[in-house]
Amino acid sequence: MQIAILSGKGGTGKTLLSVNLSYLAENGTYVDCDVEEPNGLLYYQLENKKTEEVSIKIPVVNHDLCNGCEKCTDFCKFNALAFILDKVRVFKDLCHSCGGCKLVCPTNAISEIDKTVGYIHSGKIFDTNIYSGEMIVGLESGIPIIDELLNQVKNSSRNVFIDSPPGNGCSVMESIRDSNYCLLIAEPTIFGLHNLNMVYNLVKVFNKKVGIVINKASENSIIEDYALENNVNIIGRIPMDLELGRINSEGKIVASYDEYKPLFTDILTNIYKELNL
Ligand code: SF4
Ligand code: SF4
Repeated sequence: MQIAILSGKGGTGKTLLSVNLSYLAENGTYVDCDVEEPNGLLYYQLENKKTEEVSIKIPVVNHDLCNGCEKCTDFCKFNALAFILDKVRVFKDLCHSCGGCKLVCPTNAISEIDKTVGYIHSGKIFDTNIYSGEMIVGLESGIPIIDELLNQVKNSSRNVFIDSPPGNGCSVMESIRDSNYCLLIAEPTIFGLHNLNMVYNLVKVFNKKVGIVINKASENSIIEDYALENNVNIIGRIPMDLELGRINSEGKIVASYDEYKPLFTDILTNIYKELNL
């Protein structure tokens, strides 16, 4: 089973929720797909982590075989190839690794080489399996790393919690591709509602089962009203609690404290109920 935890913006409590649920779940797995700013390993400090490189294929041109037909430059919709001074030039950072230029080249002048785009760190702690993606700073897309992370847990029989990237862009879409359930976390403010609406509309497109957790829950019923209007269940309410915030900000797992364990256990139980487990 895969549960993706999403929010319309960073800093809303996605990692708080993903880390604590994966910590409490029996046979839990935590997957940090927020590869541009991964922070799950601040909580899950792996002593013996394994690190693997993630690479993509990019084209190289053998100019001796190239006849200058420009089929490859015409084909590339990402402007990663250009015919300049009688030669095809490759702009590696614009390439999306689609492989199309190699296919359309009539003279087999194009081959491919590996380019490292990031890393996957993995290990086990507190009986939780951990996978954390890390994109090399300055690269344009974390999708190949997210794709590889999800491939590593694809057929897992464990309860997998995906810490998705913030927002509603391509990397978020990729991170929920195999999810059975999407848990949206939002704060009860107008800005929080706007972000929630954005991400809710995204998961609806993918026809995913969905629930909402309110973080810094208050008297303000703005998120409750939204949930009611859209017929979405509120799965949990994390209170505005300074001690909870302090524990979390120190990189400690809140659910490992007796007074906070029931809060996250209830959220987990409610998710399982939604999934009829
Ligand atoms: S692999 Fe695709 S994106 Fe990259 S240069 Fe070739 S056609 Fe363009
Ligand atoms: S398609 Fe092949 S032969 Fe034509 S310009 Fe590109 S590299 Fe050269």
